[in-house]
Amino acid sequence: MEKELVISRAEIARRVDELGRRISERSPDGLLVVGVLKGAFIFTGDLVRAISTPLEVDFIRVASYGSDRCSSGRIRLSKDLETDLAGREVLLVEDIVDTGTTLAWLLAHLHDRGACSVKVCALIDKRRRRREKVSIDYYGFRREGFLVGYGLDYNERYRELPDIFELKAS
Ligand code: 5GP
Ligand code: MG
Repeated sequence: MEKELVISRAEIARRVDELGRRISERSPDGLLVVGVLKGAFIFTGDLVRAISTPLEVDFIRVASYGSDRCSSGRIRLSKDLETDLAGREVLLVEDIVDTGTTLAWLLAHLHDRGACSVKVCALIDKRRRRREKVSIDYYGFRREGFLVGYGLDYNERYRELPDIFELKAS
């Protein structure tokens, strides 16, 4: 499969710095940063180093049944948080928001677990196929197409690439 560079590591680094600055300004009292595995693992690692307010980090993992390049819309929790969310201000860090199904599920879950506020930071905001009304507080880039690299995979490959590529079916 062919892949085309769409967002370079330098652009990512610049954007992560901006996001970190903005998040720090708006959340001066500190945050619980919740990264969504596996896709957001690298973004979360970079983002927390760009935030200057006190924070804690936890991870959650959801699987959506289905493989290849579409999510099926059925979501299952495969690793829950280890932190008590009661009264916490949460920053949820997602890789990609596409239809919004996964994010809507995660937001409901975090509120169920007692979070007092949840803000969302998504690396990629894809709006064309959005089905759920979800609000994204911070986003890195708006792109369509199937993306890999910088944590994003295609059948578990390409997560380690430092830049973001679009995979082209050839
Ligand atoms: P949604 O539930 O919003 O339709 O789908 C979101 C999830 O689908 C993301 O968390 C991500 O795991 C996966 N996804 C959506 N678009 C892409 C993409 O372009 N590349 C990769 N690697 N995963 C994607
Ligand atoms: Mg994901």
